[in-house]
Amino acid sequence: MSRTGGPEVMEYVDVEVGAPGPGEATVKHEAIGVNFIDVYFRTGLYPQPLPNGLGMEGAGTVEAVGEGVTHVQVGDRVAYAGRPNGAYAQVRNVPASLLVVLPTQIAFDTAAAMMLQGMTAQYLLHRTAHLKPGDTVLWHAAAGGVGLIACQWAKVMGVNLIGTVGSDEKAALAIEHGAAHVINYRRENFTEKVKELTGGEGVSVVYDSIGQDTFYGSLDCLAPLGLMVSFGNASGPVPAFAPSELQSRGSLFLTRPTMMHYTAKREDLEATARSLFGVVASGEVKIAINQRYHLPDAAQAHIDLESRNTTGSSILVPR
Ligand code: NDP
Repeated sequence: MSRTGGPEVMEYVDVEVGAPGPGEATVKHEAIGVNFIDVYFRTGLYPQPLPNGLGMEGAGTVEAVGEGVTHVQVGDRVAYAGRPNGAYAQVRNVPASLLVVLPTQIAFDTAAAMMLQGMTAQYLLHRTAHLKPGDTVLWHAAAGGVGLIACQWAKVMGVNLIGTVGSDEKAALAIEHGAAHVINYRRENFTEKVKELTGGEGVSVVYDSIGQDTFYGSLDCLAPLGLMVSFGNASGPVPAFAPSELQSRGSLFLTRPTMMHYTAKREDLEATARSLFGVVASGEVKIAINQRYHLPDAAQAHIDLESRNTTGSSILVPR
């Protein structure tokens, strides 16, 4: 993309991929993940220098390694999630520090669909909040990519997940994946429904990736001392607000996390990926790849994602 805007700013062009620089590896992609954050970069909500590529996640085979790279070798099956953007490509150079070697049980398409969304569900459930079996949380967009993984993982942890979704079909899907209750927030007031489901108490944690449209309603779902995890802006960024909004609702806590910080240290990246590979290899969490596109059709993937027509994960396939 050489400008920000709608899906039409994405161009399928040839670029020269040189030899990997120091600390880089050349990865030939077998599959590429599509994530809502790609939309934020495309529209310019999250700025980046232009012209630039899009995409933060892929899986494939190492074709070459640059100077100083020791933990991956030519021929390794690898996957990654992280910046810089540029994963919507057949082949690219990636900082080797992002690469994780894939266990043989994890297929390339599964890896490309889950590295970003699955590691996000992992840190949000295991590290951002300190959840115990029996806790009840609210998770918005429960039938989305991160959402369907969270529904299953929360169930494994014994956590009751109340999900919100935009259609009855999505509600059925979230229940099938382990959500304890689902609210169609296009038809019902989710705050009132959460209060009803929790006997008036509210939940201990809200996971809100919708942003602008749900922020205050989400705060109103929390029990006193509850934690608001604002981790995305699918409907637009959260407007500025006064800290007293947290006090008046019961001394609430607020965090605005991103996966980049939770996986910045190599040991954290490896532990997070290992935890994800574990639940996927055991079958406790299944990765629902519900949309597949050829790489040149990446714009269609964005159109579908933004129009709320997708469920689970979406991938691009280079050939
Ligand atoms: P999803 O598959 O969840 O797609 C987004 C979903 O948001 C839609 O399907 C839709 O579900 C819901 N939605 C509600 N309002 C809107 C709107 N106005 N426009 C578009 N969608 C809307 O995407 P991902 O799984 O890729 O990501 C989920 C969220 O998590 C995103 O906000 C993303 O930015 C965030 N994220 C944050 C990370 C972090 O570390 N902070 C890392 C990874 C993702 P429905 O119709 O059911 O409402």
